[in-house]
Amino acid sequence: MKIAIDGPASSGKTSLGRRLAAHYNCLFVDTGAMYRALALGVDRGLALEEIEIILDEEGKIFLNGEEVTALLRNQRIDQLSSEMAMDAKVRRKLVRMQRQLAKEKDVVMEGRDIGTIVLPDAEIKIFLVASPSERAQRRAQERSDSDIDGIANEIALRDARDIGRSISPLKPATDAITIITDKKSLQEVAIEAIDLIEKRIKYLR
Ligand code: C5P
Repeated sequence: MKIAIDGPASSGKTSLGRRLAAHYNCLFVDTGAMYRALALGVDRGLALEEIEIILDEEGKIFLNGEEVTALLRNQRIDQLSSEMAMDAKVRRKLVRMQRQLAKEKDVVMEGRDIGTIVLPDAEIKIFLVASPSERAQRRAQERSDSDIDGIANEIALRDARDIGRSISPLKPATDAITIITDKKSLQEVAIEAIDLIEKRIKYLR
């Protein structure tokens, strides 16, 4: 089984993805972390061909053998990964890796282009949305940062790049189910998603 979760920054993809992967005993693949690790490599002066990224079963991410999981969630990498994600060569490299992971195991994979480009044959496609103010609040909490306006601007800039790029823009697949996550707890969103997935599985049988 392949479950694709797409949506903009801080729409709740990672929390839901982890929860669904645990529920269905699948591998969880956070593709944003791959773009972030690659951006860190480029920031360190590595050429694209020199960069090797590995994602382990626990969600730890390695850049050329070094665990970099804790180095990826900061403003610099937010910006750099968002810019690098517009590069066709970068996307080709990571999409190849992502498809390989889904070939080896059942996966819950989250990102921006999973339902449309990476796994267009995924049995379940979920598109998460939340209002810009709610997303900024969540990000502020995650990062213990009180500059809500600054965060909202930064998220808007990244959204604009994701939606506006010519290659693999952020958009729901035609067969995706949209879930609005505003004012809902993770538990509520997970229950909604599992309900939809169960219905879909029944329909596919
Ligand atoms: O999801 P996250 O915010 O960690 O992703 C980091 C950046 O990587 C995003 O701003 C987005 O531009 C890019 N990305 C992408 N396609 C994906 C996953 C992430 O373009 N499948």
